[in-house]
Amino acid sequence: MAAGSPAIGIDLGTTYSCVGVFQHGRIEIIANFQGNRTTPSYVAFKGSERLIGEAAKNQEAMNPTNTIFNTKRLIGRKFHDDTVQSDMMHWPFQVICEKGKPKVMVQYKGENKTFFPEEISSMVLSKMKEFAEAYLGKKVENAVITVPAYFNDAQRQATKDAGTITGLNVLRIMNEPTAAAIAYGLDKKRILKHEKNVLIFDLGGGTFDVSILSIQEAIFEVKATAGDTHLGGEDFDDRMVNHLIKEFKHKHKKDITSDKRAVRRLRTACEKAKRILSFSSYASIEIDSFYEGIDFYTFISRARFEELNADLFRGTLKLVEKALKDAKLNKSQIHEIVLVGGSTRIPKIQKLLKDFFNGKQLNKTINPDEAIAYGAAVEAAILMGEKSENLQDLLLLDVTPLSLGIETAGGLMTPVIKRNTTIPTIQTEMFTTYFDNQTCVTMKVYEGERALAKSNKLLGNFKLTGISPAYRGIPKIQVTFDIDTNGILHVTATDQNSGRKNNITINNDNGHLSKDDIDQMVEEAKKYRLEDEIIRDRVAARNTLEAYIFDLIQTVEKNTPRIKLRGEAKRDILEECQEVLKWLEGNQMADVNEYEHKQKELERVFNLSVIKLCFSVGSGHHAAQSSEEPRSSIDEVD
Ligand code: AMP
Repeated sequence: MAAGSPAIGIDLGTTYSCVGVFQHGRIEIIANFQGNRTTPSYVAFKGSERLIGEAAKNQEAMNPTNTIFNTKRLIGRKFHDDTVQSDMMHWPFQVICEKGKPKVMVQYKGENKTFFPEEISSMVLSKMKEFAEAYLGKKVENAVITVPAYFNDAQRQATKDAGTITGLNVLRIMNEPTAAAIAYGLDKKRILKHEKNVLIFDLGGGTFDVSILSIQEAIFEVKATAGDTHLGGEDFDDRMVNHLIKEFKHKHKKDITSDKRAVRRLRTACEKAKRILSFSSYASIEIDSFYEGIDFYTFISRARFEELNADLFRGTLKLVEKALKDAKLNKSQIHEIVLVGGSTRIPKIQKLLKDFFNGKQLNKTINPDEAIAYGAAVEAAILMGEKSENLQDLLLLDVTPLSLGIETAGGLMTPVIKRNTTIPTIQTEMFTTYFDNQTCVTMKVYEGERALAKSNKLLGNFKLTGISPAYRGIPKIQVTFDIDTNGILHVTATDQNSGRKNNITINNDNGHLSKDDIDQMVEEAKKYRLEDEIIRDRVAARNTLEAYIFDLIQTVEKNTPRIKLRGEAKRDILEECQEVLKWLEGNQMADVNEYEHKQKELERVFNLSVIKLCFSVGSGHHAAQSSEEPRSSIDEVD
């Protein structure tokens, strides 16, 4: 292997290809000479010229019979395969049979020339290699190339041969879904003692692949694949084209169907509009002198686009169901979902998939058309023996490095989002007040693993005012921690009764912790683990005792329907409560046993009074904790 020459990862796609490399401590997706990060998998022959990539695709309309694309549908297959026979009918270029293998035939340098699919693919690969070499400023010899999980041995071997023809040493032929999972570090996120099931939803321009992988201790197993080799963005474009042809006909009483140029211009405009509809509710379409000198100016809404494609969009879920069935898994057994392919940017597709998995977050932070090349580049670096720490970090980029939480009674750090949680994520917890009639809480947001909030890093704070006055422990304050795809944390607190809310946004580049800081904090948490546990238990016991006293006071003073104490008994208990409260004030650092002992004493006094006065008592007057019950109380003080 060439020293100093990094290995590249190539996603050799049906319609587009993409190349990435690990450099300067991160994965870089390499742009082509036109500045685009994906390159059409097209090769064209024009006179004595051979064009590859953008240049080939751009002249397609003028030179359809000599412009070759979709070779991935041919590679490693036999000429008489059903799929080859049916695909051939849709291609403008000619496919012939040589010794049972398909070859494409073109006019090149004035004569008929034939090429095996491997040769065409090698031309695309050589272009990708060229972009990488120009970018890196050195020769590239080693590469990882990806193929669909369902590719058989012949298809894999032929892809490898394409790499060899290019002059590349193919380090590995890698499954595309595996590359996508690696891009998201799903093999590294937690120590994978238990098997983890990952569903890769790959919807590109012309193909749809669902794969279910199980990952355990860095072993990837393909459990099932499903899909449709002829479903993708181009079909969504088609639906819009047909809709607008009808609209034009309706408006102008003219049918443009037989005008190939007009249809082509409309298709290009529709593809653009479709992309716009992924982030906007409307897109306009403006084609000057569209047909017989008539301009075509119109617009399309996202809702209409979704309606036009509703069956196709829904159809993708049928195939997800099929993959699940084949893998003998139910949806709750899927731990991660990864989006791949440009068409997964369509919001409706994301929504359908998320709803299907009961609101599960989707892995979509990496550009979906780059995720496979990204993972292939990670694999290439690992195979080259790259030991860089950054390569390891890279795999952990999309998890929270430290726990995030708020300070609760007794100065405790109460995590809301645990360390190593995949982002984006939303977590909600219920809290309550510390005092009777407390109308304000101070939310202090911390990051770290230590038991006491003050031992962690304070990220910010805010107050929630206007809480409806009530006994301590009664108000329900919902606290939501939401980390978006950019790692930005939004914390919102809402009083469920009054509806009052307040929030804070904490930007991760604002005093963001370095890797060293994080490591140090995690190490410290380990070092002080025992001490922290003692503190946590002590504060918890103290809070429980305190809560018990306040509850008791409330119960006795309020004369709840269940417990009606009067006169002496009532006074006795209230006095005893005040005494223990005083003791608590002077004994903030007592140990767990002492707090528990005090509580037992109080319980004994209370029970005795009740028995003495022969009033009926329900055993234990604490409401059972349900998940809706507040977890801890929050103080008002700054
Ligand atoms: P791929 O083969 O993964 O590069 O996917 C290409 C397909 O994704 C094409 O059909 C594109 O029109 C489609 N695509 C790319 N970006 C978007 C977008 N923002 N919204 C909808 N479709 C898109």
